[in-house]
Amino acid sequence: KLFNQVQEITGNIRVFCRVRPVLPTENDHTVCNVLDNDKIAVRQKIFDFDRVFGPEHSQEQIYEDTSPLVTCALDGFNVCIFAYGQTGSGKTYTMSGSPESRGVNYRALAELFRLCEERSAAFSCHIQISMLEIYNESLRDLISGKTETRLEIKLGPDGKPYVPDLIWIPVEQLDHVWSVIEAGTRNRSQGATRMNIHSSRSHLIVSIMIEAVSRSTGDKLEGKLHLVDLAGSERVSRSEAEGDRLREAQHINKSLSALGDVFMALLAKQSHVPYRNSKLTYLLQDSLGGDSKTLMFVNVSPTAADETETLSSLMFAQRVA
Ligand code: ADP
Ligand code: MG
Repeated sequence: KLFNQVQEITGNIRVFCRVRPVLPTENDHTVCNVLDNDKIAVRQKIFDFDRVFGPEHSQEQIYEDTSPLVTCALDGFNVCIFAYGQTGSGKTYTMSGSPESRGVNYRALAELFRLCEERSAAFSCHIQISMLEIYNESLRDLISGKTETRLEIKLGPDGKPYVPDLIWIPVEQLDHVWSVIEAGTRNRSQGATRMNIHSSRSHLIVSIMIEAVSRSTGDKLEGKLHLVDLAGSERVSRSEAEGDRLREAQHINKSLSALGDVFMALLAKQSHVPYRNSKLTYLLQDSLGGDSKTLMFVNVSPTAADETETLSSLMFAQRVA
């Protein structure tokens, strides 16, 4: 039902909602109910998405519905997969997961390598990876780990965005690419607590460039897959935050609303799409809209304590769905 007909549809945006379980550490109850696999009820309010996954859905089941989109990248499409939601809602669990419970990123790469192998008689496949984070509207290369170099986004003669000094690493096996990603994740910041605080305030973008060259004709297919763990969407009020914290919150709000505005413009088929309003949308502009494919996970916490943020995430996502 989902991505089998995507080839004919342009400006394709899909939204999957995922409700995480109530955690053992939370002394709370759920206010969310999944209905018919594509609706979520938060008390009396009902929201509709392409798919809704509940606390009982495994990482494997989530990936099953994501896989058709991933394989589009091998067919030469640009694909973006986002995780949107408040801090603690399960974005990193969904995208990265853990060694015991792999998320979308690992499964997507495993599948890409498997398919390249499968098609190796007909195509030679080249995969490259880059990894960057956007924090307070500045870009940082997580593979180089250099904090001092300021990265800029430029537009090439083909009108496509690129980052001149960003490192792209050619990778040939899953083990290799995974160790690159783990090293990049460690570069994000030191220490587990810092990591959590920092990661909730920056966007993490893992990009995979796939080039498949036909052995018989020399024809080239180029696709891109961007895997994006977005900064936490929680609202921070002026009264709660000041200084750095307020500045971070303002940057996050700006880029998340810029992303929402781009989706809205694409859905409304507007001739002007406001990509320039944030680094995130400017960087991803050739992978949002046109014949690219987009999937957004909206991750929500089920608890009563998080109800306000859950409703605000679902409303954001509903505008896009
Ligand atoms: P975020 O990245 O949105 O801040 P995390 O992915 O770190 O949130 O999730 C917060 C906590 O909830 C983590 O301890 C994570 O392991 C747990 N968690 C999230 N989603 C699930 C899930 N579907 N099943 C089990 N535990 C989950
Ligand atoms: Mg996270």
